[in-house]
Amino acid sequence: MKKNTTKKKSYQPVSGREFPRFSGIKTFFRLPIADMTEDFDIALFGTPYDGGVSYRPGARFAPALVRECSSLGRGFHMSRAMSLFEHVKAADIGDCSVVPIDQQQTYEKIETFANNLIKNNKKFISIGGDHSTTLPLLRSLAKKHGPLNFIHFDAHLDTYPAAWGCEYHHGAFARHAIEEGLVNPKAMMQIGIRGPLANGSDLDIVRKHKVKIFTVDDIRRKNIFDFVKTLPSFSGPTYISFDIDCLDPAYAPGTGTPVPGGLTTYETQQILRALKIKNLVGADIVEVSPPYDSSQITGLAAVDTLFELMCLMAEGIKK
Ligand code: MN
Ligand code: MN
Repeated sequence: MKKNTTKKKSYQPVSGREFPRFSGIKTFFRLPIADMTEDFDIALFGTPYDGGVSYRPGARFAPALVRECSSLGRGFHMSRAMSLFEHVKAADIGDCSVVPIDQQQTYEKIETFANNLIKNNKKFISIGGDHSTTLPLLRSLAKKHGPLNFIHFDAHLDTYPAAWGCEYHHGAFARHAIEEGLVNPKAMMQIGIRGPLANGSDLDIVRKHKVKIFTVDDIRRKNIFDFVKTLPSFSGPTYISFDIDCLDPAYAPGTGTPVPGGLTTYETQQILRALKIKNLVGADIVEVSPPYDSSQITGLAAVDTLFELMCLMAEGIKK
């Protein structure tokens, strides 16, 4: 008979006291590498596809950068007083397989990957990839949960029309998510939106579906602590998609379509900390483009956001 010699995994990050943070094999938050069938709560994975960008490419390299920068990640959230990795078990399950020159095949692979995660009872956070990678994740989750509550951080609406005859680019995923019924537009909000737009009709879709939009002006008009009190709360299955370009290029230069006049990392931290979400079933961070980053500013912003997202997810998981 085969002896079971597997040691029970603790799902703790590698200690920086034992292995300094510049050493070791890079995984998200120095967490163990795991197979999605194992017994843990939150799966972190890369989705290194950027075939849907309309301007600067490079987001395919984001999972590697975020893994590297997350060596500096720590597990205790000060304002939540939460010891994240004692509260939940999280693991790096590697990257979703993609086909860099074929979006259709990539979409199928991402959706199947997410289906398997759901089958294995995992909540998940994807590190993209460009914003076109969010759509197959939403398709998978909506099959299980129905239309999701949807919180979308972005400088852009991403409800734009087809480009060069192609429907599924990174600036159109939110329109498809609404049109396919994957998200509930009445429980959808877009945060960090700012112009310029191609023309005024760009707003037609979000107006028609009554999507709640918080522009940078809306957020700055009050002080941030007063602003976050106006955020609605979310009780059903909820998804957060965080396009790093919601941040000002000063706070996230490494991205494909930067827009000046954006949020600060401090502001997005405060918003993420104030969100009341009972059941965050999935999330992603997209549009980090390492070739355009400087001094890992964008990589570190992504790591910080990843930490906030994991804490939000953990709040809905009973210890
Ligand atoms: Mn976007
Ligand atoms: Mn954007």
